[in-house]
Amino acid sequence: KVILFWFRRDLRLDDNVGFYQALQNDVPVLPLFIFDTEILENLPKADARVTFIHKQIQKLNNQLSANYGSGIAQFHDSPKAVFKKLIQDYTVEAVYTNHDYEPYAKKRDSQIKEILVQNDIPFKTFKDQVIFEKEEVVKDDGDPYVVYTPYVRKWKENFNPSVHLVEYDTLSDLRKNLYQSKSLPQLSLEDMGFEESSVKVPDFTVSSELIQKYEDTRDYPAKEKGTSRLGPHLRFGTVSIRKMVKKAVDEKNETFWNELIWREFFMQILWHFPHTVNKAFRPKYDRIEWRNNEGEFEKWKAGETGYPLVDAGMRELNKTGYMHNRVRMLVASFLCKHLLIDWRWGEAYFAEKLLDYEMASNVGNWQWAAGSGVDAAPYFRIFNPTTQIKKFDKEKEYINQWVPDLQELSYPEPIVDHKMARERCLKTYKEAVS
Ligand code: FAD
Repeated sequence: KVILFWFRRDLRLDDNVGFYQALQNDVPVLPLFIFDTEILENLPKADARVTFIHKQIQKLNNQLSANYGSGIAQFHDSPKAVFKKLIQDYTVEAVYTNHDYEPYAKKRDSQIKEILVQNDIPFKTFKDQVIFEKEEVVKDDGDPYVVYTPYVRKWKENFNPSVHLVEYDTLSDLRKNLYQSKSLPQLSLEDMGFEESSVKVPDFTVSSELIQKYEDTRDYPAKEKGTSRLGPHLRFGTVSIRKMVKKAVDEKNETFWNELIWREFFMQILWHFPHTVNKAFRPKYDRIEWRNNEGEFEKWKAGETGYPLVDAGMRELNKTGYMHNRVRMLVASFLCKHLLIDWRWGEAYFAEKLLDYEMASNVGNWQWAAGSGVDAAPYFRIFNPTTQIKKFDKEKEYINQWVPDLQELSYPEPIVDHKMARERCLKTYKEAVS
């Protein structure tokens, strides 16, 4: 008899709610991870995120094997096929896992649940990657919030550290309740047709110093440790959100805390309005006549627009899988407004490149930049790509790092004249939305 614990976006042993709950029974727990062929088949061979996940699974597996004679069973298949096989090979008492809110995950989980229920196996799922989920922070009449300020107010009203920041200490239960085996299936990247990527996920910093200085440093892309770099770690659950919120609360710093709440705001938007993955939240915005010039899109992607701060951001993204938030806002606005290219194109490019790619945040922020989303920038507010430099990279440190060819003849002329583009954007948007 075994209980299966299915790791997904929660790749850590400590403070993992579902794993902790699985270990509270007197039945050995067999941890598993599925490299889902449906997700992987669309990715490049040397994908940085697959490399990161694989490394993290190896790390957890080695910890479980060295200390507890167990490990993580690894599969490369569709989740349906894996569970069908597992329930034949083992007497499965129950399957435990943590909630996953994206549309694909919801569909996948309901299919797995169906297979399990047919076999009288309970599928037990838990909230782990957020403080509040689904309907937990809604208006008094039950409607979801679509504006951030009242959402965050209600979030904080509902927040109770002694309930929401409880730590789930799995470590003491591992010894007694883990499934013992030296021969769990293991996978290398090569087994799955992948290669190791040279792009690495950097460690995060969430020190008291960072949180206290965050307000002053977070807007300047040249600052080495101006932001936390938590993105991919929250995305794959290599760190617990409860621990991060606890740090923000302990420092009594609202700014950093509010950023963590932006993440949950967009997650609940995607949960309540899943169609916004590819449709404007404000339907009128789907009437915009995008120019969608492919040559210009290629130049934007390559960081060759002739606007140095835009180009610096895109080159940073292409090289490292990261781009500073200020610059993300600018390049997104530039694509939608200066070039009149559909936000969905930019969203898809970010999804391919960002190490911290998170569907809810990416779609939410892109729609914000395009003006079509919840709580979005009004369409007539168009970032000026030159004055943004004066505000956020006055000494051109960031630009010099990523666009060393700025002074050379080979550096391109601006792809489009700012004034003309601004007027063209206002006209096009106005026709669509007014
Ligand atoms: P910090 O400034 O240290 O913030 C800490 C954490 O708070 C972040 O890791 C993130 O989890 C959360 N956070 C901060 N700002 C936001 C925000 N605006 N929206 C949602 N969560 C936020 N963030 C993603 O996590 N995944 C994405 O795919 C993504 N796509 C974006 C696309 C565009 C066009 C824009 C403008 C922003 C996008 N962001 C996305 C939000 C933000 O840029 C990143 O979260 C941030 O830059 C990550 O760096 P950090 O971890 O050092 O952030």
